[in-house]
Amino acid sequence: MTAGADVIVVGAGLAGLMAARMLRDKGVDVIALEARDRVGGRTRVDTLQGAPFDLGGQWISSRHHRMRDLCEEFGLQTFPTHHAGKKVLDLDGRLSTHRHAIPSLSYWSLWVLSRTLAKSERLRRTVPLDAPWETPDAARLDGLSVADLSRDFGLSRTVQELFDVAVRTVFGAEPTEISALYFAFYLNSSGGLRRLIEIKDGAQERRVTAGAGEIAKRLAADLGSCLVTDTPVRRIAHRESGVLFGTSHGTMSARLAILALPPKQALAIEYEPELPPGKRALLDGFRMGSTAKVFVFYAECFWRDAGYSGEVTCAIPRGATTPPPLTWVVDNSTSDAKVPCLLGFRVGAPGRHWRSRPEAERRAAIIAQLVRYFGPKAASPIAIVEHDWDDDEWAAGCPVAAMPPGLMTQHGRLLRDAVGPLHWAGTETAEDFCGFMEGALESGERAASEVLALL
Ligand SMILES: Cc1cc2nc3c(=O)[nH]c(=O)nc-3n(C[C@H](O)[C@H](O)[C@H](O)COP(=O)(O)OP(=O)(O)OC[C@H]3O[C@@H](n4cnc5c(N)ncnc54)[C@H](O)[C@@H]3O)c2cc1C
Repeated sequence: MTAGADVIVVGAGLAGLMAARMLRDKGVDVIALEARDRVGGRTRVDTLQGAPFDLGGQWISSRHHRMRDLCEEFGLQTFPTHHAGKKVLDLDGRLSTHRHAIPSLSYWSLWVLSRTLAKSERLRRTVPLDAPWETPDAARLDGLSVADLSRDFGLSRTVQELFDVAVRTVFGAEPTEISALYFAFYLNSSGGLRRLIEIKDGAQERRVTAGAGEIAKRLAADLGSCLVTDTPVRRIAHRESGVLFGTSHGTMSARLAILALPPKQALAIEYEPELPPGKRALLDGFRMGSTAKVFVFYAECFWRDAGYSGEVTCAIPRGATTPPPLTWVVDNSTSDAKVPCLLGFRVGAPGRHWRSRPEAERRAAIIAQLVRYFGPKAASPIAIVEHDWDDDEWAAGCPVAAMPPGLMTQHGRLLRDAVGPLHWAGTETAEDFCGFMEGALESGERAASEVLALL
């Protein structure tokens, strides 16, 4: 079969859905092809313990205006993330509690921490979001990893460990694996380090009551027959005159294409002619993070009754042969608290260590870790659900693919450049809120505008 449209969008995550919707709204004949039997990509809502929970992206902030607009349009309620009460810091095997965003540290560490925040703030403001490779000092910065950058910043050991936890949680990767220039870009894209990591006024500010994954479902329902699922695109033949798509259900044709995919999934498609070497090197160079969400359900929010917020930040103790499984824990109960839940993030190197361990051993370690923080009541969950995105064929990790040292200055400028009739979307190509659901929507809008200008 050879069916066709003016534009074919590959991928029905938030980026592809947004691009298809914008084109459809302008009267363009558009089809979106999705590999999985569901839409939403790295967002997905599932019913756990009788209530909706997001297995993928979930938090939005007041600055994520596209996400908030869609919630409003679809009548989806949001609610503030629970964060009242004591927060636990597990640093080098020692526990302390604090009530505000900044942990209780020595005067020296607090001074180093505020100096670090100021330095990161100054640095991120030097990065042009549309062209990070033109940052003053780009070559030197891109030659450094985030671990090198923290040495440059002169971090104390304590602040270094906090910094590492933040990087590990945000990217699902280790500070040695990410370029300092890319990190500075990412900070600028999301409004700075504090906004990136904090709940109040930060990226973790609010949740969608029905699940953020519901947004993709509503976008898909609105697209109707413009959307085809269960159709992985395996081959793309592209000429200036048009594009042919090889799928398991036959061939499709279009004048223009939008590839709204994570970098590695875009590279997995066979292209004829081959993509230019720089574009291939760029897609190949991105490193997807490693993130699993661990939902631990209880009969009651006993931690709240004991004055805890449920939030825990855990560093790898120095010299530890076995790291604790969870790097960050947060209260993830439903808005009415009728389904009490602690959500742990198994990320980066500790996450990779624990994903290879037997399930029973891993779960015992998770429970032991929560008992250390919240006492014996944490020993009796009613259910544990782990969702590991490394096992997901069409994401191959999460939450975002980041650039290692060297990639941005070598090939970054090709990120959003079309290759003939092929245009590129996906959160990794966003200027604003790169890596977030909001960034995915922004990238879909941008790619649709590029295509509209050509039709
Ligand atoms: C655990 C986790 C936690 C997160 N937390 C947050 C958060 O709290 N807040 C936030 O804003 N963001 C969060 N994110 C990130 C956010 O979910 C992503 O940035 C966003 O969903 C990416 O959307 P996308 O459309 O760019 O890519 P994707 O969602 O990856 O969509 C790409 C689509 O392409 C499809 N596809 C792949 N290959 C092919 C092919 N060959 N043919 C056809 N289709 C194909 C895939 O199946 C997928 O549906 C999180 C992500 C994860 C996984």
